[in-house]
Amino acid sequence: MFIADAHCDTLYEIGICHTAPERCVITPDKLEKGGVGLQTFALFAGKHGTEGTAYQDGLDMLAVVPQLKVPLLLDDLPDAPPATPTGILSCEGGEMFEGSIERFHEFMARGRLRMIALTWNFENEIGYPALGGEKKGLKPFGFELLREMDAAGVRADVSHLNEAGFWDLMDRAELAPIASHSDCRWLCDTPRNLTKDQVRAIIDRNGFIGINFYANFLHPEGKATLDDVLRHIDAICELGGERVLGFGSDFDGIDSWPDGLGDPTGFPAVLDLLRRHGYPEETLQNIAGLNLWRVLKESEAHRR
Ligand SMILES: [Zn+2]
Repeated sequence: MFIADAHCDTLYEIGICHTAPERCVITPDKLEKGGVGLQTFALFAGKHGTEGTAYQDGLDMLAVVPQLKVPLLLDDLPDAPPATPTGILSCEGGEMFEGSIERFHEFMARGRLRMIALTWNFENEIGYPALGGEKKGLKPFGFELLREMDAAGVRADVSHLNEAGFWDLMDRAELAPIASHSDCRWLCDTPRNLTKDQVRAIIDRNGFIGINFYANFLHPEGKATLDDVLRHIDAICELGGERVLGFGSDFDGIDSWPDGLGDPTGFPAVLDLLRRHGYPEETLQNIAGLNLWRVLKESEAHRR
């Protein structure tokens, strides 16, 4: 079964924290053992906000891509999903563009970003983060960047974005926004999780939601089990979301997770659990990876 993961911070671990690649949570071996065909690797802006050198950090993370030892898809995607571990790139924190469309195109040319989380946890030139409570929406540069992203076939990723920014995107983005690594706020109340209205809006637009494995987003007390992953998946499916659901593990960016799901080798156990709970095989395949593959292919078809 094709398994895809919409988010991890492994490039930050290697490129910025200087962790040895073989000591990362995500390694080629573990991806293969877990049956992961497509791993999204984020260029993560870290703690910069509008200060510092997120741009240089972005370049430093691109420079260590070969150390992943996972082949990267930098051209248009093949017709069929990859059978062995393959990577794509995303961005988490648009401050690395420094308010410049040229910088965005520079990163596109160097790394073919497939999705961009417009903010991380700080205000930047694009908008405001979910953590912080700001009620203002996207900034003028945010709308300008969004037009360029739509034209380039790049999805806006609303994980980390504040609600006003989310609804601006829903109004203005041509390509349906995605949430690469967020869970259900009505099951675990943190601003990083999505409200029911947000989940419904993503379902209506046929976007994508990647379930985050961070225990603090899965369970209010931060002690999560695989059953909590199931609870969040059930909850989104109850709203009609089985065609937009997938995984956004957040591996190498989280410090707590359900037992048995601390690295990519845990994916088969999640899928087994869903199977035991009566999820039909076709739905399993969609959640495991085909839903993410669909939005990626649609993004390419949309590109002008
Ligand atoms: Zn994140």
